[in-house]
Amino acid sequence: MNKSANRSTTAKPSKAQSSENRTASTALHELFLDELADVYNAEKQLLKALPKMAKAANSDELRQAFESHLQETEGQVGRIEELAQKMDESIKEKKCKAMEGLLKEGEEILEENEDSPALDAALIAAAQKVEHYEIASYGTLCAWAKLLGHQDALELLQETMDEEEAADKKLTTIAETVANVEAQEQE
Ligand code: ZN
Ligand code: FE
Ligand code: FE
Ligand code: FE
Repeated sequence: MNKSANRSTTAKPSKAQSSENRTASTALHELFLDELADVYNAEKQLLKALPKMAKAANSDELRQAFESHLQETEGQVGRIEELAQKMDESIKEKKCKAMEGLLKEGEEILEENEDSPALDAALIAAAQKVEHYEIASYGTLCAWAKLLGHQDALELLQETMDEEEAADKKLTTIAETVANVEAQEQE
């Protein structure tokens, strides 16, 4: 049976019924849990990638930044589990295709620049795309938690958001100093 046939034969409430049974806040709550399942998977993907990025980095400063964000990321995974528990929800995992794509591109950049004096600059560029994606995801989750009145969830999400923003800023600082100086010196 193909998908559209399946869909047309599934008993689905009419729009009028569904808006009676499923309020806007229920729908937003489901969306919130979906987004949480996505970011949970995204963080887990990042857990596997960060050690490779740390290993590849030329400067000690960048390697340490990746290593310390790896530790933070472990905490962020735990924080999502804690958050779901507090909300009395079972945490689901949904493959984050965006993180998968960002990390694939990062690996490609790493391969292309393995012997380049600008390797660290390339690594930082890839890492900042990841951090910005996370900031966008947690920004959305914070806004929805607020709208839904999930105060405990909001506080935990905000903690992670602060770490992502700090990680991004740290990468900017490293990019402005170490990586770029190295790139210039070795020209
Ligand atoms: Zn809710
Ligand atoms: Fe994260
Ligand atoms: Fe995603
Ligand atoms: Fe991060």
